Amino acid sequence: MKGKAAVFTQIEKPLEIREFPLPDVEPDAILVKIGLANICGSDIHFWRGRGPGLKGGMPIILGHEMLGRIEKLGKNVKTDYMGHPLREGDRIIYSYFRPCGQCWSCLSGEAACPYRIKHWIGIPCDESPYFNGAFADYYYVRPGQWVFKVPDELPDEVVSPVNCATAQVVYGLHKVGITLGDTVVIQGAGGLGLYAVAVAREMGAAQIIAVDTIKERLELAKEFGADVILDASTTEGQDRTKRVQDLTGGTGADVVAEFAGSPQVIDEGTQMLRFGGRYLWIGNINIGLKGEIDPAQYVRGTRTIYGVVAYQAWVLPRTLDFLRRTLKKYPYAKLISHKFPLAEVNKAMEVAMERKAYRVALLPG
Ligand SMILES: [Zn+2]
Ligand SMILES: [Zn+2]
Repeated sequence: MKGKAAVFTQIEKPLEIREFPLPDVEPDAILVKIGLANICGSDIHFWRGRGPGLKGGMPIILGHEMLGRIEKLGKNVKTDYMGHPLREGDRIIYSYFRPCGQCWSCLSGEAACPYRIKHWIGIPCDESPYFNGAFADYYYVRPGQWVFKVPDELPDEVVSPVNCATAQVVYGLHKVGITLGDTVVIQGAGGLGLYAVAVAREMGAAQIIAVDTIKERLELAKEFGADVILDASTTEGQDRTKRVQDLTGGTGADVVAEFAGSPQVIDEGTQMLRFGGRYLWIGNINIGLKGEIDPAQYVRGTRTIYGVVAYQAWVLPRTLDFLRRTLKKYPYAKLISHKFPLAEVNKAMEVAMERKAYRVALLPG
């Protein structure tokens, strides 16, 4: 038996479809037949060579946001991490990363392990178990990756973003701490920003203000429950800041959450924050892209910045449960805006790079 994968061989060159044999499954591992695999912003950054360094060398398989069905269960794996029995054919999600458990970040209990994706982009895919990334027919879940069974009522389109986008938003808003009645500004109404509108609301935010440059995204932010939308393509930064001040009785937002992925928005976000406010940074994952910041606004304003790039294990089952409870309330399925067969991965990457898509998904063969 063999499976296909889209292989990354050179920076900014088309991915190549190659075949690999299905690997033997270790006693504590799981081989998954991928259901949907989404193209995340960080896949594109890796493809452009802007990641933290592909130390294991090429070729590798990009892609990490996905769900799948169990193709082969290692002989020791009887249940998921919540104790639910697992059988071949069950739909599961899993963390795409695996904290090492031994570095100082891991020992201190922070979700910040610098070695967490070593088994993904740190290992070439031309050696067993081959299927290290999501742009493929199969994926090899290693011992130590957190695995959770997916509730039957959740469609694939709602679940496929869980292990990156949705979980990242849930954990980020947990870290920044939404308090009952908060005013929250969401910078960037792409996939993550739209989840953030729903999650912030369910966590108790009273007023949610979404900022973006694309009209369609802002319309969708309204469908997700944003109270106010600010179009940054037709307004000036100072007017947007004033609007936030006006909407908060001159105080400023309690929380600003950045999902825009641009250092340019940071100064504006700072000006929107109240004294003592909290700023969540998630979108700015591009190493080396610098922006201006006035540190005194944080010192004299006693404001706090939270940078978040991974999450803890509890976030995955809580996110699944959140989606199950609010499935009819928010239009989650709209976030998978495009679908392509795996064979058309390069076209799919192009569409994902145009900022109009929310999530572009690949359907394995
Ligand atoms: Zn991602
Ligand atoms: Zn670690």
